[in-house]
Amino acid sequence: MKELKLKAMAKVNLGLDVVRRREDGYHELRMVMQSVYLYDQIRIGMAKQPGIHVRTNLSYLPTGEENLAYKAAHCLLEEFGIKSGLWIELQKFIPVAAGLAGGSSDAAAVMVGVNRLFGLGLSLEELQERGVKLGADIPYCLLRGTALAEGIGEKLTALPQAPDCWVLLAKPKVHVSTKFVYGNLKVDAIPSHPDIDGQVQAIQNGDFAQMADRMGNVLETVTIPAFPVIQAIKDSMLSYGAVNAMMSGSGPTVFGLFDDREKAKAAYSRLRAGSMARDVYLTRFFHNRVKTSEALEKHREQGLGNHDMSANRNEEFQQMSV
Ligand code: ATP
Repeated sequence: MKELKLKAMAKVNLGLDVVRRREDGYHELRMVMQSVYLYDQIRIGMAKQPGIHVRTNLSYLPTGEENLAYKAAHCLLEEFGIKSGLWIELQKFIPVAAGLAGGSSDAAAVMVGVNRLFGLGLSLEELQERGVKLGADIPYCLLRGTALAEGIGEKLTALPQAPDCWVLLAKPKVHVSTKFVYGNLKVDAIPSHPDIDGQVQAIQNGDFAQMADRMGNVLETVTIPAFPVIQAIKDSMLSYGAVNAMMSGSGPTVFGLFDDREKAKAAYSRLRAGSMARDVYLTRFFHNRVKTSEALEKHREQGLGNHDMSANRNEEFQQMSV
């Protein structure tokens, strides 16, 4: 095997709650994670020269040890004593520092790639154990699909696939650092917490309206006062017909869920024509067929809900990068 091509999917948080701040400084979270069909394209292969050689289409991204894709490869090559060189080519489409887990997803894809390229035989769980040491979102990026994430994000429960809809993503032209957001979050003063359990139940029931109704992200209590454009994009999406709209992760990307394709397309055009957001994408949920089927089977055994798992209808949906 000479080279591998992989897709690193972006994620949104359908719900994000912070339960408490731990003594070690980390925050304990409860999040509903969902992959979206917006991805970085990754190619990896063995290199003649020793070392890890990263190339990317974004000149401002680090290509050495600072790059999460590099870190992911290094961690496995070192552990397994692999002396061969490796090249990694990252074609970035997921906006950087956007709350969409682009770097974590690249790292996850590289771990999957190195595992296959060198025949390491690591299971998903074994990759996740190594991934969490590099970033709390990496175990989820290895799993993908719809999942409940707890702890610092590493305790994962796969859920049946979330009801389908159109997803409009818009990243405003502001830089929000994750450190700033968590550093300024007053956990004890959060006015209301999203109903994560209710949202999980809605997903298990295949109920789009209830799922959208229970969207909520407590990190908006920090980012919206600091960057009012986030609220302005949410308001625009709602006025254009989104069933609900919310910031993803620590932001600043806002996403809106639409149950009507024409409204979603019109909203996409209007946001693109406006000045609030630099990056605007219209996409759909990405479902991980195998694992969500397993989750559904479990769910059926428990006698809950009823879902159409017939096909991964989003596979053919092309990402629209602007
Ligand atoms: P999260 O949702 O997990 O907080 P994010 O979308 O906010 O992630 P990333 O796009 O992962 O943020 O990038 C965060 C920082 O990590 C950037 O400042 C970037 O320089 C650095 N970085 C390292 N490797 C990568 C990579 N492969 N892709 C993007 N950013 C990377």
